[in-house]
Amino acid sequence: MKMSEQEGITVKKGENFSEWYTQIVEKAELSDIRYNVKGFVVFRPWSVMSMELMYDFLEAEMRAKGHKPAWFPALIPESNFKKEADHVEGFGAEVFWVTEAGSEGKKLEERLAMRPTSETAMYNMYALWIRTWRDLPMKLYQRCQVWRYEGKATRPFIRSREFYWVEGHDVFATQEEAEAQVAEDMEVTENVLHGKYGIPFIFFQRPQHDKFAGAVNTYAADTIMPDGRALQLPSTHLLGQNFAKAFDIKFADKDGQEKYVWQTCYGPAVSRIFAAVIGIHGDDKGLVMPPNISPVQIVIIPIYDDSSKKKVLEAADGIKAKVDKQFRVEVDARDEYTPGWKFNHWEVRGVPLRIEIGPKDMKKDQVVFVRRDSGEKEEVKQTKIAVEAKRMLRKIQKNVSKKADKYMKGHMHRANTTRSLKKTLREKGGFVKVNWCESDECADYIKAETDGGVIRGTRFGVEDRKRGKCVHCKKETDTVVYVARQY
Ligand SMILES: [Zn+2]
Repeated sequence: MKMSEQEGITVKKGENFSEWYTQIVEKAELSDIRYNVKGFVVFRPWSVMSMELMYDFLEAEMRAKGHKPAWFPALIPESNFKKEADHVEGFGAEVFWVTEAGSEGKKLEERLAMRPTSETAMYNMYALWIRTWRDLPMKLYQRCQVWRYEGKATRPFIRSREFYWVEGHDVFATQEEAEAQVAEDMEVTENVLHGKYGIPFIFFQRPQHDKFAGAVNTYAADTIMPDGRALQLPSTHLLGQNFAKAFDIKFADKDGQEKYVWQTCYGPAVSRIFAAVIGIHGDDKGLVMPPNISPVQIVIIPIYDDSSKKKVLEAADGIKAKVDKQFRVEVDARDEYTPGWKFNHWEVRGVPLRIEIGPKDMKKDQVVFVRRDSGEKEEVKQTKIAVEAKRMLRKIQKNVSKKADKYMKGHMHRANTTRSLKKTLREKGGFVKVNWCESDECADYIKAETDGGVIRGTRFGVEDRKRGKCVHCKKETDTVVYVARQY
């Protein structure tokens, strides 16, 4: 087998998404699952460089909205962790504990949790820092990894026992401000995930049985993967005063009264959002990176023989010099690979724009642009390279995002009976709108009957309550929810 054949993806995304995903993770060198701790994977340079760019957009947006960064310890004393009863119940089973240290295996005085999320690390300090209304609002975030002893099967980026995220933890004097923060977190999600990464999603208010442990309400953004299953992306939680009471976070208000604060938290998991970038934008040839977050935006491939080598390589460097102030550019001048091999190599990695230059092009003072998203080729005059590259990358960014939006819109359905719900989920996937009586019995029935269809909640910010009959028990109800099979 030739090297070019080994490099390519051998299954179609639409035919076997699971195998396609496995191949892309391996062939684009995104992650290696062979690390010898179960559920832990290695993230390799191409994915990390992409995720660093994703972090940059996210953090810039959060800072622009008044957040400041902080770094809290990874270890949380058990006594902190147990302060909020619902939180313990929700996360207790997922915690990795540190119980001893040193070569003698000396037992620690207190068990330490490796943070599964940082409420109980941060709020202990918030109780010390917040004194009066002048200290509010307090809006902090940290970028870090967290550890969860997941029972479900792990897959790189989608679910692993260690993942990378940003967690925002905000404190306010009033409930109204906390509610406004939840809306702002949704705006951040829209501006960054949709606006910069091209990932469409819908925000749902989760049913009470599925909210964050310790929250009053949970709002979570779901997207749809190519196999029709929902993938949860960022969630924002209205914590109310639950943690304030557990951690004794109080402030003296303007009226002299001592009051508990109101809190929210927000958790975009960058490593998981990257799974959506892979799945939603990718095609049968490999990744399709939105230019905004591609580690290399333009790859220049010189095409030469022995006699033209020197001239063509010089020309390739000249092209790079024209655009590398504005873009992330690389010349692939490796002599040991053929141009065809290189095309494939960068296509699998999803680089948005390829510029080819050979002796024939040089004679005509031109280069050839090849778009990764559409495969279209275009001849471009040497003098126009910078301006055309800018135009082209903008176009690609837009097109990638538009395609994803279209896919999402095509995966919204409606069902009036469990039979049609089951059929739609099996044959089409995506979200299926149903009336639901809000009983746990009917939610459980739906899940069992549809092979894992889960109620994602009511759509946030869109008024779609409608009188109808519960899809299972036929009780009259206004509540309209969306069901999807999920990761
Ligand atoms: Zn019902």
